[in-house]
Amino acid sequence: MTVYNFCAGPAMLPPEVMNKAQQEFLNWQNLGVSVMEMSHRSAPFLAMVKECEASLRRLMAISDEFDVLFMHGGGRGQFAAVPLNLHLDNAPGVYIENGIWSTGATQEGARFTTVEGINVRNDDNGQFDIKPVNQWLLPENASFIHYCPNETIDGIEIFDVPKHKTAPIVADMSSMILSREINVDDFDVIYAGAQKNIGPSGLCIVIIRKTLLAREGLPCPSILDYKIEAKQGSMYNTPPTFSWYLAAEVFKYLEANGGVQAMEVHNKNKAAILYDYIDGSDFYSNKVAKHCRSLMNVPFWLKDDNLNAEFLAQAAQNNLVALEGHRLVGGMRASIYNAMPIEGINALVSFMEKFAKEHS
Ligand SMILES: *Cc1c(COP(=O)(O)O)cnc(C)c1O
Repeated sequence: MTVYNFCAGPAMLPPEVMNKAQQEFLNWQNLGVSVMEMSHRSAPFLAMVKECEASLRRLMAISDEFDVLFMHGGGRGQFAAVPLNLHLDNAPGVYIENGIWSTGATQEGARFTTVEGINVRNDDNGQFDIKPVNQWLLPENASFIHYCPNETIDGIEIFDVPKHKTAPIVADMSSMILSREINVDDFDVIYAGAQKNIGPSGLCIVIIRKTLLAREGLPCPSILDYKIEAKQGSMYNTPPTFSWYLAAEVFKYLEANGGVQAMEVHNKNKAAILYDYIDGSDFYSNKVAKHCRSLMNVPFWLKDDNLNAEFLAQAAQNNLVALEGHRLVGGMRASIYNAMPIEGINALVSFMEKFAKEHS
């Protein structure tokens, strides 16, 4: 029995990786102990993390101008770490607000620094829509520009990258890292909680331009301090070792399967199948403008909300699980990260067709 798990996060991981982790769970590299039972400073673990970083650098073509940090605290840890580390006196943290997560980042930033929120939603036509990036009015004076390229809850993705003359561009890529090709040089800080496209929760990857480590910032807990983590090889304290190991396995798996380029083709195919079906149906709808539809998170609504509970129950009976939309937007949401196979999309569409026919 194959269950297709559409959870937004923690999300499904590649079955190949999960099977390998199971096989070596009690006895990693023939050491007679589990990877989670050994010192993070032992030679085998250090060799693993070195290769993990090298693998991520190859996958994303990350140059030597960047450090890669493996931190604690997920995406939200970075909502605090970004303003604490990047704050400049007399310059606001500028937050692009394009959905629920980026607005959450603004609120957290406001606890530590002066923030300027810029709403770039353009929902006047009754759709979830985003103003084109070149029409965003960014102030000249900013400590940093923070935005979220993929809004996991709203199902909105921004494919262009904002530019600024002086301020670093910071991107919360928690739900789209490694899903399509990006040019890392267009950014200054990229961060991503692991539990959507990388591995188990607890780990957060931060890719940071080395020149930014010179910023003094604000007094900051050592565990969130980029300078300290960079200096200590992300081992200021005990890192989330099992999550780190699993991330390394996912990277290996991605490299063996065509890398990010292949993932992008795979993800665009999957999203097209689902959106095309929804657009062609008069039973389901998606409210996001076409140019900014997420490749990773596909929200959809039934024409009658009273059918939601029955839809979810029948979907689960058909081994299609975790389709309930986020409580803030309602409806359904299919999260279709890298690990979701095309078979899962086909199974979902077949079920949706059948359900619509029976309830029209
Ligand atoms: C899931 C998510 C987060 C929060 O991650 P946590 O690890 O739970 O803190 C932040 N930003 C985005 C875009 C997300 O999808």
